Amino acid sequence: MKTLVLMEHDGSALRSGNGAAIGFARELSDDVCGFLLGEDLDAMNCEAAKFAPVITVDDPALADPVADRWAQVIAEVARARGAERIVATSTTWAKDIVTRAAGLLGGAMASDVIGHEVIDGELRLRRPMFAGAVHATLTLEGLPQIITVCASAYEAPEPAATPFAIEPVAANVTELPGSTQLEEVEGKVGARPDVTEARIVVSGGRAFNTSQDFEQLVGGLADTLDAATGSSRALVDAGIVPNSLQVGQTGKVVAPELYLALGISGAVQHLAGMKNSRVIAAINQDPDAPIFEFSDFGLAGDVYEEVPRLIAELNGS
Ligand SMILES: Cc1cc2nc3c(=O)[nH]c(=O)nc-3n(C[C@H](O)[C@H](O)[C@H](O)COP(=O)(O)OP(=O)(O)OC[C@H]3O[C@@H](n4cnc5c(N)ncnc54)[C@H](O)[C@@H]3O)c2cc1C
Repeated sequence: MKTLVLMEHDGSALRSGNGAAIGFARELSDDVCGFLLGEDLDAMNCEAAKFAPVITVDDPALADPVADRWAQVIAEVARARGAERIVATSTTWAKDIVTRAAGLLGGAMASDVIGHEVIDGELRLRRPMFAGAVHATLTLEGLPQIITVCASAYEAPEPAATPFAIEPVAANVTELPGSTQLEEVEGKVGARPDVTEARIVVSGGRAFNTSQDFEQLVGGLADTLDAATGSSRALVDAGIVPNSLQVGQTGKVVAPELYLALGISGAVQHLAGMKNSRVIAAINQDPDAPIFEFSDFGLAGDVYEEVPRLIAELNGS
């Protein structure tokens, strides 16, 4: 099945999560092509071409990732190329742009896919629903299929020894909608990776009494592990951390290889944002805390004692 993988980028580099979308697409078809759109894409095209042939629409009119414009170009190119399946990694970008492209294309969409199987030629997709309380199995009727996959659910393929071809394609950028203009993008402060992209996330909850404690313990452990920091909503509501760190139903949804929950009780709204992590480890002074039910590893203890000990051990001191 002819498949386009939408490659997300931040204007200067590809997002690491794209690997999951390519990995998923390749499991289902040999006819997979990466698709980039934006401006000044040369370096990113070359990066993408390590994993699949690339088609690219490079135009100043697409400098900002504004949903109505990008979705129109995605739909136009997908139609022109006869794409039967369009795949992206499940991110805020995808929720904004890919869903709109799906609407324009009129196909069948499944989002946040965490697994699949093919039975008698029929593709069955598994995705969490109701804040992760249940898993649904979906089949898609009609074409094209538009599918977003969770970053932790699929492995990125190994880069090819010889890069694939890069093909610039034309799109009608003169009649794009202009009702939305991007005014400003607020940059992330700090050198830590973004919570949605990191392989390891260290998250803190109400156990931490001040911003300084959070930075020293949660931030300290994150830096030791080259990880991102996250938090429960309790700390955001208390003004201890910015809301960009909040993980959960009304925060960010993450699925890293390792999620460390420090002093977090495991409320259903927090679990909705992290329970698809590959490995979950928790430290909580309450041995009956619900988070332990969802953890692969648990330590009953005080974060103010256990986290400094962990940092010291990891640093070999
Ligand atoms: C509509 C709605 C949406 C929501 N969205 C979100 C969301 O997106 N994300 C989110 O996180 N929450 C969300 N919430 C809030 C959620 O219900 C919980 O209140 C919140 O997750 C609790 O955060 P917490 O686990 O840090 O705090 P608590 O539930 O208070 O738990 C603190 C934990 O820390 C442990 N502890 C305390 N001191 C120590 C110590 N010194 N050492 C070790 N352990 C210690 C305690 O035993 C306890 O288990 C939402 C709620 C609503 C109603």
